[in-house]
Amino acid sequence: MTSRGIVIVGAGQSAAVAAHALREHGYSGRITMLGRERHRPYERPPLSKAVLVAADGPQLDVLTDESWARSKIDLLSGSDAVALDLVQQHVRLADGQVLEYEICLLATGGEAVTLASVPAGRPGVHYIRTLDDARRLRAALQGTPQVAILGGGFLGLEIANSALSVGASVTVLERATALLDRFVPPEASAWLESRMQAAGATLLLGASCSGVHSLPAGRSRLSTSTGDLEVDEVVVAVGLSPNDALARDAGLQIAAGGGILIDPSCRTSNAHVFACGDCTSQRRPGQAAPTRLESWQNANEQGRTAAAAMLGLPLPAPVVPWFWTDQGKHNIQMLGLPASDLEYVRRGDPANDKALWIGHRGSVPLHGVAINAGADLRAVRPLFERGRPVQLEDFQLDATNLRAWAKQMQPDVAITA
Ligand SMILES: Cc1cc2nc3c(=O)[nH]c(=O)nc-3n(C[C@H](O)[C@H](O)[C@H](O)COP(=O)(O)OP(=O)(O)OC[C@H]3O[C@@H](n4cnc5c(N)ncnc54)[C@H](O)[C@@H]3O)c2cc1C
Repeated sequence: MTSRGIVIVGAGQSAAVAAHALREHGYSGRITMLGRERHRPYERPPLSKAVLVAADGPQLDVLTDESWARSKIDLLSGSDAVALDLVQQHVRLADGQVLEYEICLLATGGEAVTLASVPAGRPGVHYIRTLDDARRLRAALQGTPQVAILGGGFLGLEIANSALSVGASVTVLERATALLDRFVPPEASAWLESRMQAAGATLLLGASCSGVHSLPAGRSRLSTSTGDLEVDEVVVAVGLSPNDALARDAGLQIAAGGGILIDPSCRTSNAHVFACGDCTSQRRPGQAAPTRLESWQNANEQGRTAAAAMLGLPLPAPVVPWFWTDQGKHNIQMLGLPASDLEYVRRGDPANDKALWIGHRGSVPLHGVAINAGADLRAVRPLFERGRPVQLEDFQLDATNLRAWAKQMQPDVAITA
């Protein structure tokens, strides 16, 4: 590799993990990282959880001070990359600076999808993607305000739970008629609905918002399909849009549903440009269409894969997608990917706040959903990795030792439990 080195655009989770992995692999060339935000790379999951609840929230840095120092990254924070030139192999910054690269890694993440009817920047309106967004919302949650949350997805519900825990009164508007219905089986959705209501949230399902009007004292009136709603704060959490404009404008291939198209090694349609994290859509073996994953695990895994691929090293083994969300005191984890044609079998009882579902096609486990049952999900993980049919009858019995059952289902593994 020449002295131009590696330029990483974006300074978030995936960028930091990739840079660290490059050094772990022995790369000694220059690593320049550009970040629009004025922070060292930080973890976003706490932004909708602990950061909203307490001023002295958790430590957020992706890399410890020691790892950061050892990684010797030239961080240009507060720098916006505005153009990528694939022929000259350089990145242009908003201030006119030009950075030449041997290899470029795009790790630009995504932006909160905005609703035209509820514009960002309006007083009392919040979109949560950055630490600064979360700090503003935390300040606004002081003094037990009335809060409307538009969007009852994972993020909206996490914010709802955090707001409830600091004494806000919360109404969640969700366009679908069931919570998280694209991601969890109906029983899990019904359980979540009942727990949100028990925590004090008002849920307006099958509802949408057509506009927001300012009222005196900074309050807002929302026009919704179920009538007007007056609140102090409005939080919009209706999805993520991948930051793929830089790549698109440069002529890199973009997936049909958005996201920089990458192969299993995180390489884009240009041999010198890789991409990782929320900004990507990845072709994966066994998947008909490229997949966009917006998760902490994916940001980490793709960061590591991109680092190995950039150096021409063997790639880490692919992992089954995993996601977690904390909904108040409840932890939900998912393994694999949901699909509308899966059949679900359950172990445990959501009425007792503990259950595990396996979604399968032809008895092949493809999607696991765990409510307060992360250890159980870990026990059956090898079956998802193996991707072969299993006998699911015993799985459902309380008396079954899950770890032993999972081993039995893999005849090539000795049973020790
Ligand atoms: C509030 C919140 C809660 C979450 N909770 C969970 C959870 O519970 N579980 C889970 O699995 N995942 C969760 N996630 C998702 C997870 O945090 C993301 O998937 C992960 O942060 C993606 O990392 P990334 O590096 O791809 O993008 P990011 O972390 O978003 O980093 C991208 C960075 O690139 C910068 N950038 C973009 N364009 C440019 C440019 N042109 N020039 C310079 N810089 C640029 C951006 O400003 C940003 O700082 C959550 C996300 C949020 C926002």
